[in-house]
Amino acid sequence: MAISELEWKATKKRYGHKCFLCTTTEESLGDLDKAHLKGRSEGETQYVPLCPNCHGRFDKGLLTKTEQKKLGFATEHEYRRAMPSRNRQHDSLICG
Ligand SMILES: [Zn+2]
Repeated sequence: MAISELEWKATKKRYGHKCFLCTTTEESLGDLDKAHLKGRSEGETQYVPLCPNCHGRFDKGLLTKTEQKKLGFATEHEYRRAMPSRNRQHDSLICG
């Protein structure tokens, strides 16, 4: 479920128009990526502005523990759950 342009603008404003993880400014990037996090409960969604670099690392599951904590994931498991499902499937294949 996508959010409206208005909601996204409000979200970016709340985060100071910066990448949430590395604080690269929207101004220097041109635009920020809309990172889609799955919420803790089913059907809940959350959007966080990230630069393309951090967004790519997030999607690939490459965030550091510190970065995971910053995004509100208490455990590696929570982070895995919030990742895009294609990667989670990949992950569960690896884990058996
Ligand atoms: Zn970043």
